[in-house]
Amino acid sequence: MNTFTTNIQLVYVLAAACFVVGLHLMNSPATARRGNQVSTAGMAIAVVITLVLLIHQGSVTGVGWTVLIVGALLGSLAGLWSARRVQMTAMPQLVSMFNAVGGGAAALVAVNDYIEMESAHSGVLGTTTVFTLLDVIIGSVTFSGSIIAAGKLQGLITGSPVMLKGGRAINVGLIAITLGSAAFMLTTASLPALLVVVLGSLAFGVLMVLPIGGADMPVVISLLNSCTGIAVAMAGFVISNWGLIIAGALVGASGGILTKLMADAMNRSLGNIIVGGFGTGDSLVAAAVTGDAQIRAIAADDAAIQLAYASKVIIVPGYGLAAAQAQHGVAELAAVLESRGVEVSYAIHPVAGRMPGHMNVLLAEANVPYPQLKAMDEINPEFPRADVALVIGANDVTNPAARRPGTAISGMPILDVDQAKSIIVVKRSMGHGYAGIDNELYTNPKTSMYFADAKRAVAEMTSAVKTLVG
Ligand code: NDP
Repeated sequence: MNTFTTNIQLVYVLAAACFVVGLHLMNSPATARRGNQVSTAGMAIAVVITLVLLIHQGSVTGVGWTVLIVGALLGSLAGLWSARRVQMTAMPQLVSMFNAVGGGAAALVAVNDYIEMESAHSGVLGTTTVFTLLDVIIGSVTFSGSIIAAGKLQGLITGSPVMLKGGRAINVGLIAITLGSAAFMLTTASLPALLVVVLGSLAFGVLMVLPIGGADMPVVISLLNSCTGIAVAMAGFVISNWGLIIAGALVGASGGILTKLMADAMNRSLGNIIVGGFGTGDSLVAAAVTGDAQIRAIAADDAAIQLAYASKVIIVPGYGLAAAQAQHGVAELAAVLESRGVEVSYAIHPVAGRMPGHMNVLLAEANVPYPQLKAMDEINPEFPRADVALVIGANDVTNPAARRPGTAISGMPILDVDQAKSIIVVKRSMGHGYAGIDNELYTNPKTSMYFADAKRAVAEMTSAVKTLVG
């Protein structure tokens, strides 16, 4: 290994160190922003050193450079534009589109490498490695699967599980044909076989994601994110690029761990999610308020009195808070309560919202102090001491039905909201959450329902608290 190659490898190690440190910093909301910056720096280093390597090898010609630079510019602009424009509630579908691009790019790297090798060796390949095939298969499945997942979350494709007649048999057939062609390619160079592998994998990606309910998509997206990482690592082996191997392995591993954590937090197995049929997207079909005697409604003034004269309030945010963009309003309400000497904290359930860390990111955007954000295990023992639990747009993660068997959410760890002395729930109707079941909390004698859009309700309560004296 000459000095130049050694130096290149060392720079890749530096980039990898940035990725690892960046990931570590993302452990806590307080350091997550810096983690992102360090990881971005690592990626910039990896890109620059790869360009230096290409110049040194002279492997990119004039037209190649034009394509490379124009492509990088267009890609960067599209990424920047979409990341800046995206609403917090639409983040999962953006991540899914990024996964599609990553998986598709990784697959194209292997396809291009294969075609180049084939023309260079007049059809006799000693280079069709398992890595090339895994890259093409995983990258293509991720590409088409991620596009379907994004379409479901965006509402372009129905969020309901789409069960094709004979879908399972078709999937088994597709897997057999794809893997059969791949096995054939290990011994015989064949572009038609490569085409079969690509098409078979693309079709499998579509058919794998279609039967999964829209509400399970975030877990599927996390899984596909992990697949993107694996495909990128394989692409790294194909073209011998350390940067791709390391970054891909990290994404693959962290995405896999995240997928497992999300499935655990919903008390579902990954297999149960992939088999599909659960959850049909956001339950906006609001059941009419029944007028049931057990449901108590509350208005801003009464809610404000409870909050203002409490000594401890726990705010429980959920998907509805994100949908209403009420994070700034909630932060203001908390500040007003604190100025009156009320102790305020936020109870963060691991799957509140529609993506991991949804509530942390949302509340961080509103500059809520990090120490006030408490994870489920930390906050649950505090509920019995809380005078008021203020539930805002959260439903399933507070449903006591999870504690007994036989319900859609049985076994799912929940926030012990019902242990608080008094409970105020802000939502627009008696409509269900993601799991599509009634919430027993709403008929608890301690619970009062504040039926309104979260942003409006929070603003009304804040104004009402401000008018109270003493
Ligand atoms: P839920 O989906 O259980 O409930 C959200 C509630 O918000 C709804 O009942 C809805 O009621 C209310 N809501 C919607 N819009 C508004 C609005 N504008 N103003 C006020 N309220 C509103 O959300 P949770 O956060 O409690 O639970 C998350 C669910 O998503 C869990 O079941 C979890 O398993 C699942 N999930 C989470 C993932 C994650 O990574 N976070 C991934 C996959 C699934 P109404 O219509 O009456 O207003």
